[in-house]
Amino acid sequence: MKLILLGAPGSGKGTMAQKLTAALDIPQISTGDIFRKNLKEETPLGLQVKSIMASGALVPDEITIEIVKNRLAEDDCQKGYILDGFPRSIAQAKALDGFQQVDYAVNLDVDKEVVVKRLSGRRFCPDCSGTYHVSALSDETVCPHCGGKLIIRADDAEETVRERQRVYESTTLPLLEYYDKQGKLLTVDGNGTVEEVYDRILAALK
Ligand code: AMP
Repeated sequence: MKLILLGAPGSGKGTMAQKLTAALDIPQISTGDIFRKNLKEETPLGLQVKSIMASGALVPDEITIEIVKNRLAEDDCQKGYILDGFPRSIAQAKALDGFQQVDYAVNLDVDKEVVVKRLSGRRFCPDCSGTYHVSALSDETVCPHCGGKLIIRADDAEETVRERQRVYESTTLPLLEYYDKQGKLLTVDGNGTVEEVYDRILAALK
């Protein structure tokens, strides 16, 4: 199955992608994780996107599209994948249509107050890319998956979050209509617990 996960920053795309990737045995392709890995390793790409990501803006389409195109051409993506954080603009969606046919775009619909609460308590593991909420952690500093040291993502700072939400509304939101017109949009209520939302996604995909 070839899936796209859509939703505002903090809607739970990453968390749901992590669960779906294990259940469906297909890779999670997170452009945010790819960029963060490059940042951490200080590659030329990482240095190029550092200030863009810190501001909450989008990395230019030509860079992002090329990365995704190459990644989806790899062997492990041939039977399916979950795109988490891509596409994020109509230009990216059109480019994707040019090289891949996805089955569904799942939109996680979450109330604004819920998003703010989730992002303000979010912790990230730079070693395994795990994302957690402090309410579910016995120790806020240790990754329960790999034991790595958890951090607060630089782009979860209040100003950056506001900018990411603005960019989402102006640039990413039009994708809902785009995929609806293609008959591929599945909108799922993204409020509630991880298990509740996950069950709704599985029900929508059946
Ligand atoms: P995310 O982890 O998906 O919230 O992404 C974190 C940051 O990476 C975003 O705020 C952007 O700066 C950048 N990014 C991730 N995915 C994309 C994309 N599809 N297009 C452009 N920039 C992206």
